[in-house]
Amino acid sequence: MIIEFFSLKSQLFKDIKLDMTKLLLAKPVVENAVSRLTTKCLELKKRGLTPKMRVILVGNNPASRLYIRNKRKLCDKVGAEFELVEMASDADERSFTDEIKKMNDDEAITGCFVQLPVPKHLQHLDITGLINPIKDIDGFHGKNAMQIYKNESSGFIPCTPKGIITLCKYYKIQLEGKHIVIIGRSLIVGKPLSLLLTNQNATVTLCHSKTVDIRKFTKQADIIISAVGSPCFLDKTYISDNNKQVVIDVGMNKDDNNKTCGDVDFDNIKDKVSAITPVPGGVGPLTVLSLIENLTEATENIINKRSK
Ligand code: NAP
Repeated sequence: MIIEFFSLKSQLFKDIKLDMTKLLLAKPVVENAVSRLTTKCLELKKRGLTPKMRVILVGNNPASRLYIRNKRKLCDKVGAEFELVEMASDADERSFTDEIKKMNDDEAITGCFVQLPVPKHLQHLDITGLINPIKDIDGFHGKNAMQIYKNESSGFIPCTPKGIITLCKYYKIQLEGKHIVIIGRSLIVGKPLSLLLTNQNATVTLCHSKTVDIRKFTKQADIIISAVGSPCFLDKTYISDNNKQVVIDVGMNKDDNNKTCGDVDFDNIKDKVSAITPVPGGVGPLTVLSLIENLTEATENIINKRSK
């Protein structure tokens, strides 16, 4: 039996047929959120401040350009404004930090960030710490990170972890009481995600390159989340035989043919699990959605602060 949760008409998914497996696509989640965010942007405009995002891009990294294009597209769709500041790859430290200060101080900008990675000569800077925390829609500033530690609802949640929670809520994947194994402990994905899921009353195991026998953990998991950055890393040797596991693939890699792929050996795993995200079309668009959600939240916070 094939369970179709929504139309798989697009060229991208025409070959994916999953027997008894739920395909966790981002598309319906994003579509569901767009009308809500469009209404929100209109409401904020009426209250005197249009949500406006500014991004600083240093250099010409093609992946960064693609991410920025997707962010601009969703801004356009919901009626938020978008500005890109492009700096040469050899931009000096002073002009870079001046540009950050300018966007922090600009009252019309309600959310901002630097598109990472930056060129090597700027990597020693605490870039996320330089962003005004009230405009930190990436959620990387220490002040915002601390809110997750304290399980407080104020502050911005990093976009990829936030998107994964949104995905689970949309598809009614229960988190409370579940054992969730995350592979990857980066500051932008694995670490904040482990705290967020703990706050959702899940029991979390956080694995990394020094974990001995990761399979021992993944085989016991209810949900496996891979954020490693290695094509076909998570193959069927990591999966239990119970056909009940949910697999969420955060990876965004290029295969040998330069095609975008995740960390998961999708074709060989899809029939061994109860639900799985594709790449592309899974976690990626939800990361962008979370950024726009954080932008509207930042704008609303600024309006509320001004009217006090
Ligand atoms: P990262 O900073 O490079 O971290 C990778 C993590 O994977 C590290 O914790 C590393 O362990 C662990 N790791 C590496 N090799 C491993 C192995 N053989 N076994 C177990 N663990 C291993 O990466 P990231 O920034 O979190 O990104 C991870 C992936 O997600 C990338 O493909 C990235 O492009 C993608 N990504 C996608 C989105 C999205 O929106 N879809 C957003 C962010 C990132 P150590 O800590 O021990 O080194």
